[in-house]
Amino acid sequence: MKRVVVVGAGLAGLRSVEALRARGFGGGITLVGQERHRPYDRPPLSKAVLLGDVDSSFVDSDLAELEVDFRPGVTATSLRPGVVVTSEGELGYDGLVIATGADPVRLPGDGPQHVLRTLDDALELRALLTPDARVVVIGAGWIGAEVAGAARRAGCAVTVIEAGAAPLAQAVGAEIGARTQGWYDGIDLRLGTLVGSVDEGGVRLAGGEFVPADVVVTGVGVRPAVEWLADADLDLHNGVVTDEHLRTSMPGVVAVGDCAAWWSRRFGARLRVEHWDTALSAPDVAAATLLGQEAVYDPVPYFWSEQFGHMLQYAGHHQAGSRLLYRGEPGGKWSACWLTADDALAAVLAVDRPRDLVQGRRIIGDGQRLDTERLVDPGVSLRDC
Ligand code: FAD
Repeated sequence: MKRVVVVGAGLAGLRSVEALRARGFGGGITLVGQERHRPYDRPPLSKAVLLGDVDSSFVDSDLAELEVDFRPGVTATSLRPGVVVTSEGELGYDGLVIATGADPVRLPGDGPQHVLRTLDDALELRALLTPDARVVVIGAGWIGAEVAGAARRAGCAVTVIEAGAAPLAQAVGAEIGARTQGWYDGIDLRLGTLVGSVDEGGVRLAGGEFVPADVVVTGVGVRPAVEWLADADLDLHNGVVTDEHLRTSMPGVVAVGDCAAWWSRRFGARLRVEHWDTALSAPDVAAATLLGQEAVYDPVPYFWSEQFGHMLQYAGHHQAGSRLLYRGEPGGKWSACWLTADDALAAVLAVDRPRDLVQGRRIIGDGQRLDTERLVDPGVSLRDC
């Protein structure tokens, strides 16, 4: 293999370049990214960048040393076998990494609507979070909660509009989400409320009420950024479909990060997660696969979120309706544990209990069964349950 093209210059794209070099690939690598920035981390955008603690989050990596032909500001527009068509011409490849991430969903309406995906989004939004600005955040999911916290800390008058019965309801269920509701102190949190449209000067609710706003931030989720692949002879279903080696249905093409839906041997399911840890670790497997080396991607997925001074960490993969047990009470430090039918740990959400996360992730990996009576005692280490 002589030439590899990596499309998408986010973390997964950059790590793919690094992994190819680390595994001894000496051929040409072209890294195509539609943003004008060099690769950066996104988690700080809704945390340190929005809070004004830092101005950027560039990944510490030497592109010159990696001998990569980096093309910022270039968009891939279509794919056919052996050729990526871009906004600046065609690029032939022997191996291709698809790492185009995900795009935020926007709501109907002609009013100004901010999303938070890029560094430019974060800097633009930060400038608007001024004392007493009326900020409406649509969606109390991971991003919405972090934005609401930053806006409140900046002294804004914050309204959060959430369709579900509790914050985080869509991600972890309303029962757990309700445990975070008390954190929204000083915020007008409207649950079970649907937005009809974002209009000039505010938000029109589905019920007809108009909520005035100086700034509207939409945080209702993302979609895999695969529109450019619509006409390619490639399996797409909730992202780019891959096997456990991250191989797509097109020869010589792998996919990684937020855009990839891979087959998990461990969970017997196709997973697509929007987690930094996956963008960090999957590329090594994708690089091995491209180079004809044996590797399987089968992690216990992990992510974290920082909300209202709390650290939330999740590991595993749970099904809706799984048995749920708690360690600790809301108001303090607590964890939620999802169990399989035979009392193995399927997933854990640890709130300010990092040890539960670390031990839980290992227990999930080992498939260990737990003594549920000990599990609900937060004084007993998870590893001793
Ligand atoms: P991306 O980071 O989206 O990178 C993809 C790149 O490809 C982008 O630069 C995009 O412009 C480019 N691209 C797209 N289409 C094309 C095209 N056609 N041609 C060329 N280039 C293209 N995860 C956690 O685990 N914990 C957190 O606390 C956390 N916080 C987050 C906060 C924010 C604000 C955001 C946005 C995400 C957060 N995440 C968090 C998720 C995490 O950042 C993502 O999972 C990770 O960035 C995915 O990396 P990626 O490289 O797959 O995709």
